[in-house]
Amino acid sequence: MARVGSAGNPLTVAVVGSGPSGFYAAEALLNAGIDVRIHLIEKLPVPFGLVRYGVAPDHPKLKQVSLVFDRIAQDARVRYFGNVNVGCDVTLDELKSTHQAVVLCCGAELDRDLNLPGEDLPGSHTATEFVAWYNGHPHFRDRSFDFSSEVAVIIGQGNVAADVCRILAKPVDELRSTDIAKHALEQLACSRIREIHVVGRRGPTQTKFSSKELRELGRLSNCSARVSEEELILAAIDQAELSLDPDGNAAQCYQLFQQFAHEAPAAGKRVIQFHFLKSPCLILGESRVKVVAFVQNELTGEPFNRVAQATKATMELSCGLCFPKHRLQRTAPRRRALRRPSWFDPQRKRSCVGRSAESYVRTLYVRMD
Ligand SMILES: Cc1cc2nc3c(=O)[nH]c(=O)nc-3n(C[C@H](O)[C@H](O)[C@H](O)COP(=O)(O)OP(=O)(O)OC[C@H]3O[C@@H](n4cnc5c(N)ncnc54)[C@H](O)[C@@H]3O)c2cc1C
Repeated sequence: MARVGSAGNPLTVAVVGSGPSGFYAAEALLNAGIDVRIHLIEKLPVPFGLVRYGVAPDHPKLKQVSLVFDRIAQDARVRYFGNVNVGCDVTLDELKSTHQAVVLCCGAELDRDLNLPGEDLPGSHTATEFVAWYNGHPHFRDRSFDFSSEVAVIIGQGNVAADVCRILAKPVDELRSTDIAKHALEQLACSRIREIHVVGRRGPTQTKFSSKELRELGRLSNCSARVSEEELILAAIDQAELSLDPDGNAAQCYQLFQQFAHEAPAAGKRVIQFHFLKSPCLILGESRVKVVAFVQNELTGEPFNRVAQATKATMELSCGLCFPKHRLQRTAPRRRALRRPSWFDPQRKRSCVGRSAESYVRTLYVRMD
């Protein structure tokens, strides 16, 4: 029998998931110097994962990476199978018996429950469903969001929270020229939201925003970003962390918060208000969300390794719409379908690059970007 990976016996690989990690895994295999046939298997009809359904429509440059993926997909050694849900339409065992290696690149599409009392009330949503909805994801297009109240609360201070905040805060006319889903544009055009509160469990020097995204929030037309000066007072340990900040991002974000605190708010504008050191503890309301209650936190532990601990102080925000969770957890095809072969280790990360073709055979990989 010809050597695996030679012209007479090409290595056959099933790559499950066609987001960035699926395409980069395929690219690495194509460039590995072996003869290879790749089946890219995707549960949605169309490829690109969160590049299509996650990245915000008003950031089109970030979506341009799909041009690279197009080039990979056009390689004659790659075949795309859309609308095939591994674990439902085909089992992993079937893929293993028909391919010499399987690479799982299924992304992280589930929301982690915060187990907050009231988080299932109408008006409380995951950021993930909102993002998928405005990006036209076929499984989310029928969701509805009520923009009839004036106040929205977003829990979390990273770039997904920034995306959600920007889409809520931007004048709808500025979204018209983007590829935002038509149904979302129509509903956002009727939005009465005036105040958006963005709440983080840690302090102003520990947020996960990139300074670029945060700066953009401060420059939206017809909107002002605000922070209370009291919330920006730093402890010595915060200063120490800032002075050792490896890439300067935390310091830049802190400077931006200071600017937001000092700029005079203009009347009649939408407002984005940042709050720090607060964790949600309860969502209140009878038929729908009325109030999100928070505990005040303090940070304990060593520099760069501090954790938020609840104090007895509390705060409440009245609102009609809230996004209490958007952290994602990794998914893999359903466990039952996997039947847990002994060599399957979902925690394992392996590179597809620089290995002999034989070493791929009968191996299951989980690629995590
Ligand atoms: C709201 C949001 C905004 C973001 N914005 C940016 C940004 O601006 N810039 C940036 O660099 N990163 C951004 N990211 C992060 C980036 O999108 C992810 O890091 C990246 O998409 C992860 O790639 P992935 O291939 O692992 O997962 P995904 O992109 O999620 O792709 C996984 C694919 O696997 C498919 N799949 C899942 N299960 C199965 C199954 N059982 N059978 C077949 N197919 C399956 C899914 O349908 C999906 O197409 C953003 C993420 C989110 C959530």
